[in-house]
Amino acid sequence: MHCPFCRHSDSRVVDSRTSDDGSTIRRRRQCPECQRRFTTIETASLSVVKRSGVTEPFSREKIVNGVRKACQGRPVSEDDIALLAQRVEETLRGTGSAELDAHEIGLTILGPLRELDEVAYLRFASVYQAFDSLEDFEAAITSLRARRAVEDGEDGEADLLVVRPS
Ligand SMILES: [Zn+2]
Repeated sequence: MHCPFCRHSDSRVVDSRTSDDGSTIRRRRQCPECQRRFTTIETASLSVVKRSGVTEPFSREKIVNGVRKACQGRPVSEDDIALLAQRVEETLRGTGSAELDAHEIGLTILGPLRELDEVAYLRFASVYQAFDSLEDFEAAITSLRARRAVEDGEDGEADLLVVRPS
């Protein structure tokens, strides 16, 4: 690591601290040449393979933007969206793979988004899963209703859970 002050080609780590969620490490470094100190932050690199085959660095901001679009006009705060994106990133990093495909990210967003707002979930799912007919919406809504019934503890509707959008 170059010293950012004098460009000396080496530096010494004087302190390391892992963030609470374990996803980053901050290192305090000192330049042996000019003696000045600086901090570096280390994160595991995560890349995304898009449908086109192009690879790009993972960006939490992109999740935020996609989810925000789906939540337009819904009673969902920026904090809710930021928290959702953080959860999604933690889940994805938790898989331990350095390369994710865009499809996997979409799938990971669907669960927490459904808990956050069902209308936003339907919007997101319709774009992401490329709904192309009313039947697709119908199936997704049926599945949402069935899930809600199960959560409410109603009996007899649990078998509806097998209905899923194709
Ligand atoms: Zn230096």
